[in-house]
Amino acid sequence: MSDRKLQVVPLGGLGEFGMNSMALRYGDDIIVIDAGMMFPDAELLGVDIVTPDFTYLEENAADVRALILTHGHEDHIGAVPFLLSTINLPVYGTEFTLSLVERRLEEHELLKDARLNVVEAGDRITIGPFLVEFIRVTHSIVSAVALAITTPLGVVIHTGDFKVDPTPTDNELFDLHTLAEYGKRGVLLLMSDSTNVDRPGYTESERAVRPRLEELFARSERRLIISCFSSSIHRLQQILDLAAQYGRKVAFLGRSMLNVTEIAHNLGLLSVPDSTLLRPQDIMQMPPDKVAVVVSGTQGEPLSAMSRVAVDNHKHLYLEPGDTVALSARIIPGNEKAIFRMMNHLARRGSDIVYGSMNPPIHVSGHASQEELKLVLNLVKPRYFLPIHGEYRQLAKHAQLAGYLNSQGLENSFVLETGETIEIDQMGARRGEKVTVGRVCIDSGSLDDVVEDMIIRDRRHLAEDGFVLPVIAIDKHTGRSEGLPEIVSRGFMGAEGADILQEARGVVARTLESSTTEELSDWGVMQEKIRTDLKRFLTKQTQRRPLIMPVILEV
Ligand SMILES: [Zn+2]
Ligand SMILES: [Zn+2]
Repeated sequence: MSDRKLQVVPLGGLGEFGMNSMALRYGDDIIVIDAGMMFPDAELLGVDIVTPDFTYLEENAADVRALILTHGHEDHIGAVPFLLSTINLPVYGTEFTLSLVERRLEEHELLKDARLNVVEAGDRITIGPFLVEFIRVTHSIVSAVALAITTPLGVVIHTGDFKVDPTPTDNELFDLHTLAEYGKRGVLLLMSDSTNVDRPGYTESERAVRPRLEELFARSERRLIISCFSSSIHRLQQILDLAAQYGRKVAFLGRSMLNVTEIAHNLGLLSVPDSTLLRPQDIMQMPPDKVAVVVSGTQGEPLSAMSRVAVDNHKHLYLEPGDTVALSARIIPGNEKAIFRMMNHLARRGSDIVYGSMNPPIHVSGHASQEELKLVLNLVKPRYFLPIHGEYRQLAKHAQLAGYLNSQGLENSFVLETGETIEIDQMGARRGEKVTVGRVCIDSGSLDDVVEDMIIRDRRHLAEDGFVLPVIAIDKHTGRSEGLPEIVSRGFMGAEGADILQEARGVVARTLESSTTEELSDWGVMQEKIRTDLKRFLTKQTQRRPLIMPVILEV
């Protein structure tokens, strides 16, 4: 018997949405589960992505043994390049998950030295004192796993993201048996996905969207455009099957859509009949009723393919009245404005827009509702429970939901925020010391940037490179800008920068001139375009990367 402690250290994703990462420490051995990112909301304008602060791992670098990935969503793998650029850990995950990671690492020139280890559901690996078994779960992405981690003090189960889909489209079923076997033998700690804890009942099976998609294929008389997440392989498969059935060819638009479908196809996870596929450049040559286009950019991201299509700014697809546009994805809280702005543009083109809740659904969630969460709690029957993946209210609700297990051996549920830890020894579990956590804002710039330049902690960023505020006054009636844009800066160059800033005003003016009236009316798009153009110019002229925050005033 050991007198050592097991420490559970959340590095991201508890009490916040996204950037999931969890460390487990036993003695001198640490394993990390997931390294995700989050997309910045409007409050963090001026950065591209946000990752957890991995200071805890850097400070204990000699003890960190491995990174284990549950599935390939960005909020679980998006920060892998940034973690590996500081500590080159061996990484374990399923083939599809690692293929998505590979693409990321390649972009950051980290692939050559990466140590990627493919595992399958059912595999067991030993890392120091940890025996990790990978358990298949169902989720909105394929090849997702939960982890059962046997430690000297007992078994820890981490569900990853999941729902209990009894009829997944690929027929790869949730391995509830294995989960139940662990439960029967006794589980020390369960960590479970809290994303949908607010929803009563069961989340519908992925197959539930098929009738709605079929209805769209059956009734659309012109082009059918469907926007969904590129990682939703189940959804894409259903679209491809229906397209074949209804005699439409399918084109994919958007870089991530093209990449991910190629990866999934190569791994045999997406079957694409050869005659079904259409090259993007051929979309407009086909009769409108023979085309379906799957487009990335469901969240109204300003530079995404869908946003470009919405403002007639995509070189391969422009909409015509009567085209149908379906949003087969959820509206992530915080993105409503951007999405509705995009839909207003789509409506102006005369498109028939299909989105939101309806029956049968155009989208189903990938996360478990209350009854499925209870099912997992019942099967695992843990001694301790730690809700993960959610904002504080969701974690608290999930802990409350588990309350009925108090008579069934559940001793305690912990509601923790990122950085707050649990310490477990022979006596039991209690709250431990806090560790350093936080958010790191990354300004990824163009893809040719090397990773050293990409990791910019915002404080250092401001201290060294300052910030630049282009101020643009736009006439409410004409939609055109009034005079040459002003630029305010702090901490960015001294007097020697005056000429460059003067030139920069011209750069912003040219961005405005080259934009369509519709783009000019869309502040989200304009802010992003101005930021991108100005960043390119300033980096080239000065090799510095100030924080750029365009301000648009309506006058
Ligand atoms: Zn997630
Ligand atoms: Zn997920």
